[in-house]
Amino acid sequence: MDRAALDFPNLPFAYMDTDSNIRYKFSGGKWSEGELTTDTTITMHMASTCLHYGQEIFEGLKIFERPDGRIQTFRLEENAKRFQRSAAKLLMEPVPVDIFKEAVHRVVKANRRFVPPYGSGASLYVRPYLLGVSAEVGVRPSDDYLFIIFVTPVGPYYKAGFTPVKLMVEETIRRAAPGGVGDIKCGGNYAASMRATMGAKEKGFSEVLYLDAKEGKYIDESGSSNFFAIKGNKFITPHSETILSSITRMSVAQIARDMGMEVEQRPVSLDELSGFEEAGCLGTAAVITPVESVTWGDKEYLYAKDGKAGPKVTELYEKLGSIQWGEGEDPYNWTEVIE
Ligand SMILES: *Cc1c(COP(=O)(O)O)cnc(C)c1O
Repeated sequence: MDRAALDFPNLPFAYMDTDSNIRYKFSGGKWSEGELTTDTTITMHMASTCLHYGQEIFEGLKIFERPDGRIQTFRLEENAKRFQRSAAKLLMEPVPVDIFKEAVHRVVKANRRFVPPYGSGASLYVRPYLLGVSAEVGVRPSDDYLFIIFVTPVGPYYKAGFTPVKLMVEETIRRAAPGGVGDIKCGGNYAASMRATMGAKEKGFSEVLYLDAKEGKYIDESGSSNFFAIKGNKFITPHSETILSSITRMSVAQIARDMGMEVEQRPVSLDELSGFEEAGCLGTAAVITPVESVTWGDKEYLYAKDGKAGPKVTELYEKLGSIQWGEGEDPYNWTEVIE
């Protein structure tokens, strides 16, 4: 393999072109064979439901190169299943799990030279998405769908990598309401979140921490990652119907349990901020990002000293990394080598 000539250790979290992407069409009640293409543009009807009624869902996962030079997926099946749940909620045609997995394998193999080398800290980000592409003007679900996956090599989501970030409690803008679509990965949720994130960045924070829409009292999640905190031997993370349930969180909670920690998934009140010792954000892009501080109004709560993550967050990060990068054992069978 002739690896792409890229500065892998210094990659930003940004899009770049690779060799190909893969596309499947759903029409006449069935899925087409997937097709690899070098075309980075798509042609669709201007009245496609994804364009004006937001019939769009997506996923995000990473491919890691192991010390032995092979490459692997991490919990691919969970992404496939969540993609189906997202589709169902927006009355879109679910992509069968087998097609989803096959598509990831094919597009990754076709772009093998873009998988960053082990040790660079970078990985190959995989972005599957599904679009409603029938022409409609009434508000109704599309009959036809386009399923695309592109890949792009990425560095850490937050510029500094495993360095604590500052969060700000968002007291005005709500991310999602009960009964809504906050629990699925649809593009509209992100369109609605940008003004909060940009506002936080202008004030010098990396991200916001959203509150529950009903009472404004409980922590929901951050912009694109779930929140957790450490108190004594407890791993505490919000239970909420308005957050996107993170696969990274599910995995780290399991690791915490196996470290002998007690996992509490329950409503987490803002008043508890003062009692936490460490905190972090969880997501495919963010991996585990330590939280340095949470600012709530004029109060700032600190969870990292001298810009360094605390011991529990660090241990969780190392244990997760060892599985994702194929360095240690994978006791749960979360990874799968792409042959
Ligand atoms: C994708 C996403 C996450 C992280 O989920 P993972 O499965 O860990 O990648 C968290 N919150 C939101 C809003 C997301 O869209």
